[in-house]
Amino acid sequence: MTHTPMPAPGRSYLAIPGPSVMPDAVLQAMHRAAPNIYAGELVDMMPALVTDLKRVARTDGHVAIYIGNGHAAWEAALANVISPGDRVLVPATGRFGIGWGEMATGIGAEVDLIDFGLNTPMDMDRIADALRADTDHQIKAVLAVHVDTSSSILNDIPALRAVLDDLGHPALLMADCIASLGCDRFEMDAWGVDVMVTGCQKGLMVPPGVSFVYFNDRAYAVRQQMPRVSRYWDWTPRAFPDHFFEYFGGTAPTHHLYGLRVALDLIHAEGMEAIWTRHTTLAQAIWAACEAWSSAGSFAMNVTDRAHRSTAVTALRLDAPKATDLRTWTEQNLGLTLGIGLGMAAPDDPAWHGFFRLGHMGHINGQMIMGMLGGIESGLSALDIPHGAGALDAATAVIAAGYRA
Ligand SMILES: *Cc1c(COP(=O)(O)O)cnc(C)c1O
Repeated sequence: MTHTPMPAPGRSYLAIPGPSVMPDAVLQAMHRAAPNIYAGELVDMMPALVTDLKRVARTDGHVAIYIGNGHAAWEAALANVISPGDRVLVPATGRFGIGWGEMATGIGAEVDLIDFGLNTPMDMDRIADALRADTDHQIKAVLAVHVDTSSSILNDIPALRAVLDDLGHPALLMADCIASLGCDRFEMDAWGVDVMVTGCQKGLMVPPGVSFVYFNDRAYAVRQQMPRVSRYWDWTPRAFPDHFFEYFGGTAPTHHLYGLRVALDLIHAEGMEAIWTRHTTLAQAIWAACEAWSSAGSFAMNVTDRAHRSTAVTALRLDAPKATDLRTWTEQNLGLTLGIGLGMAAPDDPAWHGFFRLGHMGHINGQMIMGMLGGIESGLSALDIPHGAGALDAATAVIAAGYRA
């Protein structure tokens, strides 16, 4: 018997690495009439919202809000500290590192790209060599993606800070935490990050459309020395507003702010340490299952070393076109949407159908992860895709150990 409902009945599960699952409480907070944007609740809630945004990133620095996706935050961050002709160093570990570098090229920067490929983390020695060779400090910033969502590689940001410090190199350390914030541990001040960009639709659990640029006083001093900063991207009025509209450079993203308020309440009620622990436990359950599947057939994890894997996203491989077959099967039959492979092959290349990703960021728990893993196992079996046994037992053992009474 063949089931072909589309979409499958029951609650669906979008297990892609962003946008992530939105909590019902966030959706309910957004479902309301248009508010007054000149006085009242919305205006009054901004100071606490900003404070709580900083707590997520563990910083006492500043944050500017932009109505735009992560790409907007990339450009905003660059526009405040990079002038045409400035050099930036881009140590890339996937498609997103390359993309941020392309954006820097687009605003006229000279980009030094070190491409570490798609399955190894940044090699700090090679980065140190590049910085050491820059004796007259032409490199103004290092653009580092904390978790590259295409490859699922987790990079060691404190180690990068140590490289800069050991060499006495003044380049700003700029981090992309769009995938990692609220999932993988990130501590902006303790790690010495000068500028950090993130979006609202991954670990922050809000629909796409708002992004954030965090910066410290060191980065602000660089901003103050800029010959010119585009007025719309300038973080100064957004981070230090005299009037409510200045936070947003115009009309506020009203409903996103209500959703974000509730998301931040959920985050701080749970606590950052507990959130990081939850993501670690659930990721380890996923890895245990994937490692079991990998023991036979063509199933493989993109990142072999656990220390270099993000706990928010997992990139995987299956002989083409089996990855696409599996994604199609789980979505049509189970209401489970898995992520496409990104950056591994061009969409018109048959190999494109040999990669996929799992998103496990934000509003997730053990039963969702077991449902996702059970759905994948069902699809592998239904499609006669060879795979190792014992994946679900391995995952339940991790969850049982993680939540042992
Ligand atoms: C999602 C993501 C982006 C892009 O964000 P958009 O909101 O799609 O523009 C950039 N970098 C990383 C690491 C991401 O995960």
